[in-house]
Amino acid sequence: MAYIEERNSEGGCLFCHGRDLPPGPDSLILHRGQRAFVMLNRYPYTNGHVMVVPNTHVPSLEDLDAATLADLMLLARRGLRATDAPTIHFGTGTAGLLPLMARAGGDVVSVDWRIGLGEAWALIGNAGIQGNLDPSTLLAPFGVAAAAAREILADAAGRPGHIFNLGHGILPQTPVDHVRRLVDLVHESFLVAPRPADARRPS
Ligand SMILES: [Zn+2]
Repeated sequence: MAYIEERNSEGGCLFCHGRDLPPGPDSLILHRGQRAFVMLNRYPYTNGHVMVVPNTHVPSLEDLDAATLADLMLLARRGLRATDAPTIHFGTGTAGLLPLMARAGGDVVSVDWRIGLGEAWALIGNAGIQGNLDPSTLLAPFGVAAAAAREILADAAGRPGHIFNLGHGILPQTPVDHVRRLVDLVHESFLVAPRPADARRPS
C-alpha cells in the first residue's frame, strides 16, 4: 500500500542515483561489486526481494559487456545463497509456457489474468502460484474487482502455495480505496481459509 499511496515521483534515474550513494539503510544498497551493485526494493513483493543492478545505464542486457553480465549473475547467485529465499518465476502473457516455466524451476510460478488460476495451477503441478487478478477490474466499481477476486480465491480453495496478486501491475489511474478494500477482502478470506498445516492433512 505504501508504494501506491506515496506515489513517489522523484525525477531522474533511481539506479544511477543509488549507484553513487554509500551502502546502508538509507540508500538500501547492500553490496557494491566492481561492475554492479545489490540493492533492496523499497517496496518489496516478498521478504528478501533484492535487485542486482549494473553500474552502466543501458536500455537492454544486450548492451552490457561480458564482464558486467558475469558480475550480475555472480551477484544474483550470492543473493540467492545469502537469503535462501523462495524464488518466483515471473512472466506475463505466458499462458502457453506455464508447464515449461514450472520445469525450468522456481518455488512459485507467477501467472497473469489471461488464464484462470485453477487451469494455470493444473499446468504447473506442484509449484506454488502467484496471481492473477486483472488489474483493470480495479478501475470499475469495486464490486467488479471483488467478484473477480472471490472467483480467484475459490479457484485456489485455500490450497497452500497461493500468493494472491494482481497479474500484473497496478495502473496509475487505480483508485487507492479500491486497492485498500481488495487487500482487506483477501486478508479476510485467508482468515477463514484452512491453515496450511490443516490443508496438508489427507482428508
Ligand atoms: Zn540510470
